[in-house]
Amino acid sequence: MVTAEAVAARRAEIAQAPDLTALLARLTERAAPLLERRPIVPPLKALLSSDGGICPDDGTALLFNPWSPNQHHCSRCGKTWAGERHDRHWARFQHLWLAERAAHLAALQALGGSDAAGVRAAEILRAYARSYWQYPNRDNVLGPSRLFFSTYLESIWILNYLAAAMLLRESGHLDEATSRGVGQVADEAANLIGEFDEGFSNRQTWNDAALAAIAVWFEDDDLAKRAIEGETGLLAHLMRGFGRDGMWYEGENYHLFALRGLLTGAAWARAAGVDLGAEPALAARVRAALLAPALTARRERIRGSGSRSRNRCISNCGRSGSRHAGCGMREPGCGTSRAGCRRSTASRASSQKCSIRIYTMLPSNASRIPHPGSRCRGGPS
Ligand SMILES: [Zn+2]
Repeated sequence: MVTAEAVAARRAEIAQAPDLTALLARLTERAAPLLERRPIVPPLKALLSSDGGICPDDGTALLFNPWSPNQHHCSRCGKTWAGERHDRHWARFQHLWLAERAAHLAALQALGGSDAAGVRAAEILRAYARSYWQYPNRDNVLGPSRLFFSTYLESIWILNYLAAAMLLRESGHLDEATSRGVGQVADEAANLIGEFDEGFSNRQTWNDAALAAIAVWFEDDDLAKRAIEGETGLLAHLMRGFGRDGMWYEGENYHLFALRGLLTGAAWARAAGVDLGAEPALAARVRAALLAPALTARRERIRGSGSRSRNRCISNCGRSGSRHAGCGMREPGCGTSRAGCRRSTASRASSQKCSIRIYTMLPSNASRIPHPGSRCRGGPS
C-alpha cells in the first residue's frame, strides 16, 4: 500500500502542512495509552450469539472497553456483567481494534518517527503470529475464519494487520523474524479468504481487498490477478456491482460498506500496478459511486419518500428486503482449493505487475450480475 518513497514524501508533506502536523500530534496523543501498557490480545475466537454483549436485564448493548476483557458494563442500568458469551462478543471488537491500533502505531513510526510506537506495533504483529493457529477455524456463520465467525471480518482484520506491517517494512522498522511471522499469518489468511468466494456480495468486496493486500505483501502476481481482475474481483465489483448510477446493487444500506471495501482494495491494487484512476471508465464509475449517496438523497428530497426501492435485489430473486428466507449465502465460487489459493510465497523477485484488463470489454447491456442463478444475499453478519 505504501512504499519507502511514499513514506518519505508524506513525512515531508506533513512537515510543511500545519493541519497534517496537528493531525499527527492528535494521533500521537491518542496512542499514549497503548504505549503505557501492552494491549490485550483476546485468547478467544469471537462468537456471534444472541445474548453475548447484551445486558440480560434491559437488552442494552454492553459498552466496548478494550482494557476490560472480562467485565462488561451496561450504560443503561450501570451493572457489570461477566461470562464467556460476553467475553467472546468483546473479542470480536478487540481483534478488530487491535489490528487498527497496529496500523495506527505503525503510522506513527513511519510518519512521526516514534520508535516506541513502532515497537508496540511490531509486538502486536508478533503476538498474532504466535497465536493465529490457536484460534480454531470452526463454529462459523459465514465462511471460514480463525479470529471471527465470518470470513469478511477476517478480511477487514488482515487489511489493517498488513497495513501495519507494510508501514513498518517500508520505513525500515520491521525485523526479519516479525516479517516472517506476518507472512505466515497472511498466507493462512489467504487460504481462508480464498476458499470462500461470495460472488457479488458486498462482503466479497472486502475479501477481494484483503487478497489484493496479501498479494502485494508477497508480490504474488497470480493472487493479485485473481483479486483484482478475477470473475468476482475488484474490477468486476466496481463495474457490475455498482451500476451506471453508481449505486451498489444490493441497495443503499450496503452501498457505503461495499464502497469502502472497494476504495481500500483500490489502494492495494495500485500498489500491485493496477490504477483504477488511470482508466476513464473505471474512474468514472468510482466517481459515480462516490456521488450516488448525495444524489440519491437529493432525489429523495425532491420526490418525497420512498420512490426508490430500498435494498432491492436485482438478481433473479427480485424481492425487496435486506434478507430473504431461503436465500443462499454462498455463491458457487471459483473452485480454487484452499491449498491452491496461494501456494507460492517466493515470488517477490518478480517485478511484473498486473495488467489492466479493463471491464469495458463487457457489452454495454451486460447484466450487472453475471450469475443467472445468483440469489439474494444478506450483508455484513
Ligand atoms: Zn443494563
